[in-house]
Amino acid sequence: MELEFDRQIMVWADEAERRIVPALDKIDKTVDSNQWKVIRAFQKHRVSDYHFAASTGYGYNDRGRETLDLVYADAFGAEAALVRPHFVSGTHTIGTALFGVLRPGDRLLYITGRPYDTLHNILGKPGTQDTGSLRDFGVEYEEVELLPDGGIDWDGIRAAWTPNTRMVGIQRSRGYDWRPSFTVAQIGEMVRFVKELSANVVTFVDNCYGEFTERLEPPQVGADLIAGSLIKNPGGGIAPSGGYIAGRRDLVELAAYRLTAPGIGGEVGAMLGATRAMFQGLFLAPHLVGQALKGSVFAAAMFELLGFETHPRWDGERTDLIQAIRFRSAEHLIAFVQGIQMASAVDAHVVPEPWDMPGYEHPVIMAAGTFIQGGSWSFRQTRRFGSRTLPMFKAG
Ligand SMILES: *Cc1c(COP(=O)(O)O)cnc(C)c1O
Repeated sequence: MELEFDRQIMVWADEAERRIVPALDKIDKTVDSNQWKVIRAFQKHRVSDYHFAASTGYGYNDRGRETLDLVYADAFGAEAALVRPHFVSGTHTIGTALFGVLRPGDRLLYITGRPYDTLHNILGKPGTQDTGSLRDFGVEYEEVELLPDGGIDWDGIRAAWTPNTRMVGIQRSRGYDWRPSFTVAQIGEMVRFVKELSANVVTFVDNCYGEFTERLEPPQVGADLIAGSLIKNPGGGIAPSGGYIAGRRDLVELAAYRLTAPGIGGEVGAMLGATRAMFQGLFLAPHLVGQALKGSVFAAAMFELLGFETHPRWDGERTDLIQAIRFRSAEHLIAFVQGIQMASAVDAHVVPEPWDMPGYEHPVIMAAGTFIQGGSWSFRQTRRFGSRTLPMFKAG
């Protein structure tokens, strides 16, 4: 059975497809480069069938787990990595990295503006109850707003610098903001800048949604520590859950002490049968990220033809999977999300509605016709932006 579309929609879709050919070619080149990078990492560490076996109990000497860490470290150009199904989400993974490194009296300075919604509770909000946030443990937090054009406020960073600034936070992806995401080259500039202010500051990058969209990853331009979610890019839509932390060996170890317990770290942890899917997901990730990027480029081109404002535009530079489209009303956004859901293989019969998701400060509506819960397109309903309502969606 053919799906029936309005003939005019098909004409626009054909036109959008013609227009984006050069952008798709460029994505294929990035996919090739990253696919080989991942395959070489598998080969170097002699990944074998026995690595996929499930460990139980404490999971001592789980060669699959140890090898997965080594493969991830190589794929991200890092000294070490910690890749575990025990991370329940990207937020948990990022929280583990921050708590692992920061100590009472230290200061965390985010230099890419207000971080992603779900991190606000980790940082701790003034006047809120005792939840064990960084703030509750005496870690100071400050952020430097981005400039009106979305650029880094270099003078602002200098002004906000204090002797106890121990860690600098950088968010690669735009998250839900209407601003450009930061390329790996730009992250390299930020790292160089803050290392000049203090050579031993730890640079942390929230790498969520960025993995494999470019040829290099943040550790390859000097970032000390990165974290991301396996429910997004590097899980390849196959890993059942989990997150990764990668970077300097001593810092990854501190994060491992926080995930399990001091002195135990990454040397225990039964993989619960997830190892095969985590390897396979990483192997598939460069290709699937390429497909998601192509979907974003197509969506941008199509909606531009229809007169919508998009960010980035179809031919804009990309360093993550996020495509924002400005809908003129909540109804349009909801209809769009519901349309995506109707076209899915899984849960096509359900109708998504906006709801107050845990950790988010605005109602969220998500289409997710997926085999791994949440690993799909998610949609943010509204955010006040100037005088206009700014609905967005993101492809994950
Ligand atoms: C998704 C995301 C997170 C949080 O990950 P969850 O798995 O949703 O907890 C943090 N930062 C950025 C930039 C993200 O895109």
